[in-house]
Amino acid sequence: MSEESIRNILASIQDINPNSNILEAGRIHHIDASEERIYVLLSVPAENVPQFHPIREQVETRLKELYPQKNILVGMTAVKNNPEPQNPPQKLSSPFPARRIVAVGSGKGGVGKSTVSLNLAVALANQHNLTVGLLDADIHGPSISHLMKNHKRPPIENKKIIPFNRWNIHAMSLGMLLEPEEPSVLRGPMMGRAVEQMLDDVAWPQLDILVIDFPPGTGDVHLSTARKIHIDGAIIVSTPQDLALLDARKMIAMCEKLNLPVIGCIENMAGFICPHCGEETSIFGKNGVQHHAKKLGLPYLGAIPLQMDIRTSSDEGQCLIVEDSQHPLSLAMARITDALVSSLNLSQTTS
Ligand code: ADP
Repeated sequence: MSEESIRNILASIQDINPNSNILEAGRIHHIDASEERIYVLLSVPAENVPQFHPIREQVETRLKELYPQKNILVGMTAVKNNPEPQNPPQKLSSPFPARRIVAVGSGKGGVGKSTVSLNLAVALANQHNLTVGLLDADIHGPSISHLMKNHKRPPIENKKIIPFNRWNIHAMSLGMLLEPEEPSVLRGPMMGRAVEQMLDDVAWPQLDILVIDFPPGTGDVHLSTARKIHIDGAIIVSTPQDLALLDARKMIAMCEKLNLPVIGCIENMAGFICPHCGEETSIFGKNGVQHHAKKLGLPYLGAIPLQMDIRTSSDEGQCLIVEDSQHPLSLAMARITDALVSSLNLSQTTS
């Protein structure tokens, strides 16, 4: 079974345009076929996604009939005909003071994106001696303030907000600007402005690198931030689970649309290391992200194990990288940031 034979099958399915099939109509974004499974991503216009649900189901049913022994996954990615926002955000009045800016994203929530963003920032600062900023742009669920155990309102000097400094990084999160119990339900223009304010109105020092923790999925925050500042590239965090991978592909499609190069993929919660016997179990599958990154031609930066103390230390506001340089998280982050620093050509610090 080849991609070609799957394309032929898809050519027998009628598009919503009665004059063409879905292949002719350009609805096939991606096909990925392996021994165990077939994955098809359909590209559909954002304006009328619901109309394509029956087509998605037809594709799934047809492939299941023909390949009953395989795991069939059919996803849809929404494409906007005109991705330009009505009022494009203004560029910053002066360039953002960082040599490099990277955005960390994920297809869905709960894959450890914020944990990875924070640990990336801490590893870049402590293992590579870089001046690092961390901006929590996950405005619907800002968790960096929680992970850094800081909900205090930051001081203001010369009308600029002073970023929070801990573990050698400079951080700013909406969670530091809100009261702890205050929900981050921002509406309308305030939401659109929140990230811009954290870029514009914060006294960021001259940085070697700014790490931006993007919200999960794809949306307005990604679009407006990418238009406001020059982002060097995106890092995609995924667990080895299929669902997370499926969603990560939407993120990849969005990066393509924003002309944002994908610097690399990181697999989080890779193998569970038993705290008692040290044996590794692959709860969410093994090397899924590495395998798919290779297939999609994307760089793979490395894997982070699933370990109980990664969660408990975060909950307690501790930082394993600073506390234990030999911890599996510290070793994993050293490998990942080595790859990142060399791909961003960042070995020289500003100081
Ligand atoms: P996201 O930002 O993707 O929503 P978080 O970073 O908030 O995800 O992580 C979700 C939960 O998973 C947190 O409780 C976090 O401590 C835990 N977690 C993240 N990565 C790991 C890991 N490698 N091992 C164990 N727990 C992890």
